[in-house]
Amino acid sequence: MQTALRVETTSPEETRILGAALAPMLLPGDLVSLSGDLGAGKTVFVQGLATALGVTDRVTSPTFTIVHEYAGRYPIVHIDIYRLETFQEVLDLGFEEFLDPKAIVMMEWGEAVEPLLPRAHLRVELRRTSDPDEVDRRVITFRPTGEDWIRKLGAMRETAEALLDAASPETSEGSRFEFVTRDGDATRKEGIG
Ligand code: ADP
Ligand code: MG
Repeated sequence: MQTALRVETTSPEETRILGAALAPMLLPGDLVSLSGDLGAGKTVFVQGLATALGVTDRVTSPTFTIVHEYAGRYPIVHIDIYRLETFQEVLDLGFEEFLDPKAIVMMEWGEAVEPLLPRAHLRVELRRTSDPDEVDRRVITFRPTGEDWIRKLGAMRETAEALLDAASPETSEGSRFEFVTRDGDATRKEGIG
């Protein structure tokens, strides 16, 4: 069974920190598929990641233009396929060319084209909670496919714990992450290690 990692954020800044923590683990050819409703924080996550990779341009939603490219330590291709309705439209876009081995690809709504994605990729799911008192809370689940992504996620987690602790020391009791099964049930709360 593949192990997924789940963490909660309570502000856009914390979600940016998670993106920034993933950034050093990424190499050209890597693809990250982001899922979650409109406003879940997919673009915010990409903002943190891109900034950590040295992108100085403002990272904005590619919802209308579908593709944005940024120059950081590596090229970053940021795709949002929300407005595309069929597989064919995605293919017509030159989808395969976007899966550029020289770039890091961040794909919003990637789950819609899961069969077209490389077999090994990272899926990041962002969810709001239904509690009206927690409008800024997001539950973020990282689902790796393949050993390489499992290893990268382990490293991301350590970096994220340290960065989040530094940003909000008052909430830094134990691990913020928990392992979940493929179906999303929490298995156990893990300490560091
Ligand atoms: P998406 O790309 O998933 O449609 P965006 O990243 O564009 O969503 O927008 C997320 C919105 O939610 C932003 O306005 C952001 O400020 C807000 N927000 C509030 N709390 C959070 C959080 N914990 N993480 C990410 N975004 C948050
Ligand atoms: Mg978006």
